[in-house]
Amino acid sequence: MSVAAVEHGGRSIQEDVDPIRPMRAFEVRVSAVRQLTPHFRRITFTGPDLELFGTGPGGETLDLRIKVLIPAPGHTLPALLAVRGALAEDWYRDWRSREESVRGVMRTYTVRALRPAAAGRPAELDIDFVLHGAGAPTPAGARTVASGPAAAWALAASPGDPLTVIGPCARWGECLGIEFAPGEARRILLAGDETAVPAIAAILESLPAHVKGHAILEVPTAADFLDLSTNANIELSWLARSGRAHGELLSHGVRGVIAPAACRRGEEPEDVDVDAAILWETPQAAPEHGLYAWLAGEAATIRDLRRYLVRDVGMDRGAVAFMGYWRDGQALPG
Ligand SMILES: Cc1cc2nc3c(=O)[nH]c(=O)nc-3n(C[C@H](O)[C@H](O)[C@H](O)COP(=O)(O)OP(=O)(O)OC[C@H]3O[C@@H](n4cnc5c(N)ncnc54)[C@H](O)[C@@H]3O)c2cc1C
Repeated sequence: MSVAAVEHGGRSIQEDVDPIRPMRAFEVRVSAVRQLTPHFRRITFTGPDLELFGTGPGGETLDLRIKVLIPAPGHTLPALLAVRGALAEDWYRDWRSREESVRGVMRTYTVRALRPAAAGRPAELDIDFVLHGAGAPTPAGARTVASGPAAAWALAASPGDPLTVIGPCARWGECLGIEFAPGEARRILLAGDETAVPAIAAILESLPAHVKGHAILEVPTAADFLDLSTNANIELSWLARSGRAHGELLSHGVRGVIAPAACRRGEEPEDVDVDAAILWETPQAAPEHGLYAWLAGEAATIRDLRRYLVRDVGMDRGAVAFMGYWRDGQALPG
């Protein structure tokens, strides 16, 4: 335990606190909004502390996850419990203990790009929001899709709107929130739905030329295909759902590029109840030189793909990162 000044809602009090986490609450404002495609809206943020935003050792962001805190209607953003600029150990419990109607809504997103300040321009952070549900175009015949507070906020966002982004603080060295860890793998499979597109896009931009493999992306419509760039030898497959069941094309796409093993079957992975638990398995050291797979998106789809790769293909579990980014029919707790 150490003694430090705790900043809370403008107050500063002396208190015993546990060691602080290397995370920081960045108070930012929307500086630009760009509708990339019918379902992707890129929102650019600027803020006084963005220079302190943490990244990987080479400045890369890969699948760096962040939390966004959206203000409750008619309320300002709440101050989060902080110690010398970093979040205090129990900031989340403190935030959750506040009245639901005033504390705002917290959701998880990916840093699509982070640009340091240059030539008179301030540092900027891009997040690509998927517009799901109300207000988003729905192809003829598609089921009605639910909206949520984050998607609704993105749909209405305009320059000047405030938001709190919780992300790693460069001052602390360690960058929490990056899961993509292919080690020395030379073959890579990236697969995901529209919520994983920002992460896959940033990962592709960082891959070296000697890496080969596939990226399979399922998105709502063909108008949502984006131009992605990479130096690696990656075959990119965009799949337009166009009203089909979520995950159907992604599942076929993965099976099309990674065939089941002819004789060797792997272990049956333990089942995960995706309605009760978060599907999340991210090995930090992939086996050398083989295939490394990174999969993210709707939890039930990702659970089934995990079973396919581990049991039917016989992939080493240590070479596969699986992440349920959202669950159909459920609002994820902040
Ligand atoms: C590590 C991580 C990184 C992520 N990165 C991104 C990102 O960069 N961009 C991005 O857009 N999303 C991203 N997501 C997913 C995002 O957090 C969820 O989609 C989140 O539920 C959106 O919040 P909401 O308030 O709009 O909807 P919620 O209130 O959470 O959900 C309301 C309803 O909408 C449904 N729903 C939620 N998301 C979707 C969807 N995409 N399509 C259809 N129905 C949906 C839910 O099932 C529920 O029925 C990420 C998630 C994780 C865990």
